[in-house]
Amino acid sequence: MSINQSGWRPKMTAANGNDAAPTFTGNRALMLEEALIFEIGDTSTTGVDFAEGDVAGSRLGDLSRKAPIGLAGLSEPETIRHYTRLSRQNYAIDLGLFPLGSCTMKHNPRLNEKVARLPGFADVHPLQPVDTVQGALGVINELAVWLIELTGMHGVAMSPKAGAHGELCGILCIKAALEKRGEGHRKVVLVPESAHGTNPATAAFAGFMVEDIPATADGRVDTDALKARLGPDVAAVMITNPNTCGLFERDLKAISDAVHDAGGYVYCDGANFNAIVGRVRPGDLGVDAMHINLHKTFSTPHGGGGPGSGPVVLSEALSPFGPLPFTARMADGHIQLIEEETAGDDHPDTFGRMTAFHGQMGMFTRALTYILSHGADGLRQVAEDAVLNANYVLRSLEGTLDAPFAASGPCMHEAIFSDANLAEGFSTLDVAKGLIDEGFHPMTVYFPLVVHGAMLVEPTETESKAALDQFIGALRSVAERAKAGDTALKSAPHFAPRARLDETLAARKPVLVWKEPPLAQAAE
Ligand SMILES: *Cc1c(COP(=O)(O)O)cnc(C)c1O
Repeated sequence: MSINQSGWRPKMTAANGNDAAPTFTGNRALMLEEALIFEIGDTSTTGVDFAEGDVAGSRLGDLSRKAPIGLAGLSEPETIRHYTRLSRQNYAIDLGLFPLGSCTMKHNPRLNEKVARLPGFADVHPLQPVDTVQGALGVINELAVWLIELTGMHGVAMSPKAGAHGELCGILCIKAALEKRGEGHRKVVLVPESAHGTNPATAAFAGFMVEDIPATADGRVDTDALKARLGPDVAAVMITNPNTCGLFERDLKAISDAVHDAGGYVYCDGANFNAIVGRVRPGDLGVDAMHINLHKTFSTPHGGGGPGSGPVVLSEALSPFGPLPFTARMADGHIQLIEEETAGDDHPDTFGRMTAFHGQMGMFTRALTYILSHGADGLRQVAEDAVLNANYVLRSLEGTLDAPFAASGPCMHEAIFSDANLAEGFSTLDVAKGLIDEGFHPMTVYFPLVVHGAMLVEPTETESKAALDQFIGALRSVAERAKAGDTALKSAPHFAPRARLDETLAARKPVLVWKEPPLAQAAE
């Protein structure tokens, strides 16, 4: 590509190399082609006009710049248009259904945003005297009460800032409890094969050794294998319920009893709480610690790395070890922040502190707004509708795609398919890429690892039947093409700004820095 001195965006080849009816700009109607900012700009100029200063001599001395700074040299409107055009290439939950499994990408009610932006919540500072932020602390406290109520647990640590951070919080509570009992020698954490990668990573990070527990053919934890492995070296088990195959772990209570009898603790990965909220209380299943991804179960826009919030509910046995600070409502209604200084007597066994301040205030406000606007009956309906929608997807597509656990009964919040009946040479990746041409973000692929070529679809409760029908139609059409051996699918997507990329090369040798091409090429 040439460096374009005029700032006019150069003509680009269509993404699929198909020049049948190219446009002058490379744009296709409102789908605008976009080059790198350095390719549309000019590094030898600046986009800003500064008058020459009449200051005598520079005060920077040796530090003054000797060569141009190498910015793209665009004017303000050109810069804004570049980033706006790029932003329009994002797929978002506000554009269409986002079928990613395990991520719970649901509609985020605008009411939550409105409340989170109220100045009394948005403009407070964590170092303000507690007397001046009683309302904000009240939100944290009230949300804590709801989370304890919904989970049937004893206490909650509000400060962790993501699901994975919550896992670490829970496992550190378990570690502190074992040390207090003089059983710090228990070093093994048992994790089912289907677990999210953060589970073994958390246990290893906290200094434990991770051992896999196999799954049964119906996609659940092999309870007998788990029980057989329990013993004096086992610190805890980490179980996801509902699990990442979209199935309820029916044996969890029996597993918890066996783990407790053997002296260990039960960590539950609560990322899928969306499917059981208002219906099942993890505390009744013998869970000792469970994180709740507020950004999954209780809305909040997420994706692209944040924001997250992962409060951890704790059993009576683990609550004394939870982190600081936390809020407590005093008899006179005043909310106190229990910090190190005050904790000496009240909370001597705390393992310490996980975050600088109290947690993600904006997300607490959104989650509490979501909970209060749904009410107890509405939250129960969230779970019922999420499960209904996933089963509709599962039953609509089981004749098209292989559904490995369809025979085990209804699924929970997500439906899982495999690549088993695609034509020779066609893969899950081809189906995912084909969905992009249909205007959908692909589902989660190749996870969980226990299913070959897994396609994990989580529609969530916020999709209508019409939206589900359109998605099902698109996925069925792409799957039929993959079963019929339609070779065009091998190079999909054809209608996206960029066609099939070499993702392995991109991951192994990412090119993250733009280099100015040599002059000869630039003049081309
Ligand atoms: C999302 C997820 C996590 C990690 O949560 P983050 O908030 O992304 O850190 C852990 N386990 C499961 C099953 C998940 O789906």
